[in-house]
Amino acid sequence: MRIITRGAKVGPCNICGTVGVLTEDHIPPKGVARVSQVLMLNIVDLLSVQRPKKSGRISQNGVKYRTLCGKCNNERLGLRYDPVLIALAKDVRAYLESALHLPSAMHLTVKQNRLVRSVVGHLLAHGVDEHRNGSMIENLTDYFLDESAPFPANLKLYYWVYPYNDQVIVKGAALSVHYWNSFAVFMLLKFFPLSFFIVLDEPAEWRIPFGRLDSVLTTSIDDEAMIDINFANLPPQRWPEAPENTGMVMYGEGAIGAIQTAF
Ligand SMILES: [Zn+2]
Repeated sequence: MRIITRGAKVGPCNICGTVGVLTEDHIPPKGVARVSQVLMLNIVDLLSVQRPKKSGRISQNGVKYRTLCGKCNNERLGLRYDPVLIALAKDVRAYLESALHLPSAMHLTVKQNRLVRSVVGHLLAHGVDEHRNGSMIENLTDYFLDESAPFPANLKLYYWVYPYNDQVIVKGAALSVHYWNSFAVFMLLKFFPLSFFIVLDEPAEWRIPFGRLDSVLTTSIDDEAMIDINFANLPPQRWPEAPENTGMVMYGEGAIGAIQTAF
């Protein structure tokens, strides 16, 4: 898949729509370091998950999109929201590095409203010319730009530990967990050590066994919540973007995906 990551140098910001000079958004955010292959394989063993498949392309820089104005990129994401995501990634990483035997879960206190806006902002940055492109993006844009706004009621946000070095970003694909039944549109952001998965109008019959962040969000930006980081029963590396067994993903018109293999 060839991905257009650089649109015009000047244009509308993917988030706020302001027309001006565009800047590069980085996935993972600057400040989230990769782990060495040796350490990562130790972590994979520790977590009893499958070893990553070795594949070709080496990416030193992650995924970059030149789609954001300076204010959204440097002030909103860089100063206000990314520090919370970066700190969470560092905490989980430090835990994985130091543990010889993991308990099944750890608990961390986070500023959840800032954390989720960081995740949402990077998803909105993904893809060229995506400003307010469709109702899901529209709702997430309104949420991102208004710190007192509630998270869109028709969305769920799941998270789980992702012990792999590559990055996955998907925006606007549709997943079914069982063949052709009950598809739902999703967005996905994965980089070591966490995955974030937003589902639109999740079908009632889905049973996704991971923790949710949308359920702990509030309308006061600096509120804090305790979240669980679970180390047991993690999904396969390529779930849900390439589900095994009975699931299916449709990358239809308008879906944008990027997978960068790290080694
Ligand atoms: Zn902007």
